[in-house]
Amino acid sequence: MNIFRCPSCLKKGFNEFCPDCRKSLFNGRKISPVLSFSRPDYNRRKLEKAGRISISGVQSKHSLALTGAGLELVEKGGEYILKPIPPGEFENLDAMPANEHVTMQMARQVFGLNTAQCALVFFSRDSAPAYLTKRFDVFPDGTRRLQEDFAQIAQVSEESHGKNYKYDFSYEKIAALLKKHISSYAVEVEKFFRLVLFNYLTHNGDAHLKNFSVYRDQGMNTYLLAPAYDLLNTRLHLPFETPLALDLFESGYETESYKANGYFAYDDFFEFGARLGIPPKRVERFIAGTAGRGKEINELLARSFLDDSLQTK
Ligand SMILES: [Zn+2]
Repeated sequence: MNIFRCPSCLKKGFNEFCPDCRKSLFNGRKISPVLSFSRPDYNRRKLEKAGRISISGVQSKHSLALTGAGLELVEKGGEYILKPIPPGEFENLDAMPANEHVTMQMARQVFGLNTAQCALVFFSRDSAPAYLTKRFDVFPDGTRRLQEDFAQIAQVSEESHGKNYKYDFSYEKIAALLKKHISSYAVEVEKFFRLVLFNYLTHNGDAHLKNFSVYRDQGMNTYLLAPAYDLLNTRLHLPFETPLALDLFESGYETESYKANGYFAYDDFFEFGARLGIPPKRVERFIAGTAGRGKEINELLARSFLDDSLQTK
């Protein structure tokens, strides 16, 4: 199978993982981007685990571990998560792994955001793509890092707050929780601001409460905003989805700009940054640094595994 670029960082001139990505993803080991198992093998394992035949339970994410033989499906303690093409009726689902992969790479390479390590891999036999990510909450010895998502921090759940609990919230309120729980708030809130801005830019309509976390940094003995994960352009699959999963502001606040235009623009993010307590000069710099990246984005998209029409979209 010829892929003509590193399936993690998308650098050209490789037909496998480049040395840098081999190091960051697989402790330097040479691992094939083609999995040792096929989609039917994968589905069979999922069914065995479920104990009964059910299509709905088949294609969700699954843990993988790096064993002597390479990447293998495991029930527990895997250092990797595999997300195959999901089943369903949404648009362009075959491209969802490539969408998530290039969006994550864009966040990391173009915008300098701290993200989980990820790659695109391929099932044996039909070469169907799947998104692979390395868990940052599991240490190589299998022990877990302390980590909490913002649904846990806000103490909301389906039982206590109903079906929509992950979405009935605002980014401003997440920042307030960050302030309450993190001693290095001034530094971490800027990462959070840039991530929300990135989600808006790339139309990630699924950046809900559980898709933001804090984790414990062993070295610094403190909690930090966890690396970004689950970033993708949801509009490729749900054309009418809103560009942000949560409200930007608390208590229904709207800027004059938003009232006039009906979409978020400079004023909204400027106000958002101010409410988070970020110095205005820095907010201006972050917004300016996010706009005008079209050329770098297009270059990365051109090397991605999305087809031409989806790159344009
Ligand atoms: Zn690479």
